[in-house]
Amino acid sequence: MCAVSSPNSQYVVAKFGGTSVADFDAMNHCADIILANESVRVVILSASAGVTNLLVALAAGCDSDKRENYLKQIRDIQYAIIEQLKEPDVIYEEINRLLENIDALSEAAALATSEAMTDELVSHGEIMSTLLFVELLRQRNTNAEWFDIRRVMRTSAHFGRAEPDTLQLHSLAMEYLHPRLNNTIVVTQGFIGREEKGRTTTLGRGGSDYTAALLGEALGLRRVDIWTDVPGIYTTDPRITPTAKRINTIAFDEAAEMATFGAKILHPATLLPAVRCGIPVFVGSSKDPQAGGTIVCDKTENPPLYRALALRRKQTLLTLHSLKMLHARGFLAEVFTLLSRHNISVDLITTSEVSIALTLDTTGSTSTNGSLLTNALLTELSTLCRVEVEEDMALVAIIGNELSHAKGLGKEIFGALESFNIRMISYGASSHNVCLLVPGKDAEQVIQTLHLSLFGS
Ligand code: ASP
Ligand code: MG
Repeated sequence: MCAVSSPNSQYVVAKFGGTSVADFDAMNHCADIILANESVRVVILSASAGVTNLLVALAAGCDSDKRENYLKQIRDIQYAIIEQLKEPDVIYEEINRLLENIDALSEAAALATSEAMTDELVSHGEIMSTLLFVELLRQRNTNAEWFDIRRVMRTSAHFGRAEPDTLQLHSLAMEYLHPRLNNTIVVTQGFIGREEKGRTTTLGRGGSDYTAALLGEALGLRRVDIWTDVPGIYTTDPRITPTAKRINTIAFDEAAEMATFGAKILHPATLLPAVRCGIPVFVGSSKDPQAGGTIVCDKTENPPLYRALALRRKQTLLTLHSLKMLHARGFLAEVFTLLSRHNISVDLITTSEVSIALTLDTTGSTSTNGSLLTNALLTELSTLCRVEVEEDMALVAIIGNELSHAKGLGKEIFGALESFNIRMISYGASSHNVCLLVPGKDAEQVIQTLHLSLFGS
């Protein structure tokens, strides 16, 4: 599907995250960025910061006091933006209509909620932020057009984590978006889509980056710009390790491992559509565009052995023991078929003669308790094997190049971590990463210790 010579290859898609569109001033910074670059023709927004969380809470169903309180917080965030527009009146009515919708839906959710209703409710955040932003651009004399992404983003009906249909996206985007790009800036929503029956879906929390990469691919754009609140990708989260350094360019392969293992600023699947087509992704801060950022591209010069450390919290470790496994065939297949039927995505796996240990990915789900382990799943698993569950673990990924061929790496990593318990190790599957599972309470210290020893101070 990658367009070899795309008619849109001079254009760029810019995505702005929740904090970048949190309020009027933040939105103006985004407008400055867009107006400073002629090639930006597609703009994708998240909901204003905080709004998605409030909507998720409303969708879970709450008593009327809480509901009033959450609704008021959402209204305040949106009104604060409207009130600073030059002509606020043109947009009040439309936003009020959406707020009334939210009110009605959350009242219904308090009686009986559902995943489909959750996605419908949650989508209002992106609808409102994009409507407000188009108005702000228009009032700055820019030719901007609001576009409902659901017209082109067709997905599976897996609410909360729907899968986009990339073939349909390609043809619909070429039909409806491509003809607009010459004369307008199209402003549209990240994160949301529509399933076959016309119901709204979402792509998983943080899914706007994914939307941006998917559109970059579908339209054959020159670059995907991800504007967030940090000026690029760092050797590790600077909030955990203040000496973390910015990475100027990083190869897709390395960045993909970072994304998979929970680097904060990228959604796990974000890069994939861009990777497929060799479209570079830029990551920068909308508050400080002068500070530059990180370019994720096909290849970099002299890739270092150690590139970055990534952390993924809230991991669940499942250990499955079965004597049936001894010299058996098909046991793993049975286990994974079962997990897949329950929509469980597995991160790490290790096996011994009679056991399998695996970690489950609990991020990115809109399920409110964050747990994917249902009773139904555990009951089914226990017919196959003995099951042990350990919660609150954390995954630390060491990302780099040619790691599986380096000498002395074990000594370097495990020597630095001699005072910690490492519950599980995954090494050798990729030359780009070594993964350690540690107790959640130790995670930050493990990162700090490793960063000091592998990257210096
Ligand atoms: N607004 C959605 C969320 O908070 C999607 C996104 O920000 O990418 O998860
Ligand atoms: Mg976000």
